[in-house]
Amino acid sequence: MNENGTRILIVDDDEALLEALPEALQLRMNGIGIDVSESAQRALELIREVDYDAIVTDIKLPGMDGLTLLNEIKELRPGTPTLLITGHGEHDLAVQALRGGAYDFVQKPIDRDYFVASLERAIRVRRLDRQVEEQRRELERHARVLQHVDRGVFLVDDAGVIQFWNPAAAAITGLDPEQLVGRRADEALPGWDVVGPEVPVAMEPGPALLEVKTFPLEIDGRELWLSISGVRFEDGVVYAFRNLTEERALDELKSDFVATVSHELRTPLAAIYGCARTLLRRDLQLGDDDRARLLEVVAQESERLTRIVGDILLANQIDAGRLRLKDLEFDVAELVRAVVDEMEAALTGKEDIELELSAPESLPRVSGDEDKLRQVLLNLIDNAIKYSPDGGRVGIRVEQRDGGLQIAVSDEGLGIPYEEQQRIFGKFYRVDPQQTRGVGGTGLGLYISRELVRHMDGRVTVTSREGHGSTFVVDLPLLPITHREQAVISQPA
Ligand code: ADP
Repeated sequence: MNENGTRILIVDDDEALLEALPEALQLRMNGIGIDVSESAQRALELIREVDYDAIVTDIKLPGMDGLTLLNEIKELRPGTPTLLITGHGEHDLAVQALRGGAYDFVQKPIDRDYFVASLERAIRVRRLDRQVEEQRRELERHARVLQHVDRGVFLVDDAGVIQFWNPAAAAITGLDPEQLVGRRADEALPGWDVVGPEVPVAMEPGPALLEVKTFPLEIDGRELWLSISGVRFEDGVVYAFRNLTEERALDELKSDFVATVSHELRTPLAAIYGCARTLLRRDLQLGDDDRARLLEVVAQESERLTRIVGDILLANQIDAGRLRLKDLEFDVAELVRAVVDEMEAALTGKEDIELELSAPESLPRVSGDEDKLRQVLLNLIDNAIKYSPDGGRVGIRVEQRDGGLQIAVSDEGLGIPYEEQQRIFGKFYRVDPQQTRGVGGTGLGLYISRELVRHMDGRVTVTSREGHGSTFVVDLPLLPITHREQAVISQPA
């Protein structure tokens, strides 16, 4: 055993022993540091200063007996092993000492072989203790660091049991360490039985070795996309993951955007191109009427293109938080009537659609953004007509409600499957065209409508039965001008 750096204390009032014992120990335990003390008081002073690897003390000392000293040592240095020297026949005292936490005892006259062996063992135990303590502190330090990283980190031991789950892992997945630690990963982590074996695990740490893969995990009905990799260590695997759900959603949004928009732009462009080419042909004898019809198509389709581009820009403005609403006085009844007239005029060729407006003769004037409300109404009525391919009645009802206004647009068209009714307000979201008989669109109309109404502190809701039609209701807290003024006047100064 290498005694370098080892330091022990011997406490005894027997001067002869205090000289002989250290000498004998120095011979047998090369390089060991030995302090001596004749009294318990002095010993305690030394113990306070030095963290000894072991302490040897006579059980009988003047002033304070060895047992009391033992108790004091336990208080001051609970980890330091203490060996007691007992007199011949002091068995009871020895047993008491062991009960009191002594490491071992040696009887006088001291059997040196036994003594040295016991002391060496004590020192070894103390060293191991210190190593364990150091490792524990190290682990705590690591754990503290892991508490603060933004990546989810967890540890699965060789038995497949989760031993650690950091706060970022909890925040990303919504699963608490209490739910997971101590349980098998393939049972406690949804989908881990399938994903776990697929995760790349490096044999040693190092960025070059780390391959990362992205997997979906469904947790509490939420689909999470996690990019995850593992590193093997002695007792298991440490996994680290990042949440890619939003990036992935963004990627999907981008490809949705490209797919829908390019498709939606192509149709009017093709029509415009076709008309232009026809108008350019010299071999065709086009009459004025034909020319006018073709030009009308060009005008209409250009308008459609302008609307699509306008929607994209507006959605972008909303997303960037750059939407500003006007607050000007206007007449809602007049606005709704104008929108219905406009839609009616655009219905030429769709005789099977009937627009029906029901609104009170007069409504109080309100303050708000008339253009944006017009856009919402145009979107909803346009949808009601678009998604009624077999025709039917489209009803627009305006009512004054407590503290606000309600506008409902209902149709007798295709209706919307229940599970789609919330999704249709999502950006670029469109119900599968097969279910909507191929009706075209960008999936922006309802997103924009809901956002505009939200900016007006109102809300849009939908009720619908598949195959029977839908009703979209806009509730707006539009205060009539008179009320507003009264409200301002009645506010205490
Ligand atoms: P777009 O009509 O351009 O596809 P919207 O955001 O206006 O986009 O609508 C999203 C989806 O909601 C549509 O694809 C359609 O499936 C559905 N939808 C909207 N309004 C109606 C309606 N009145 N009847 C049936 N389905 C509708």
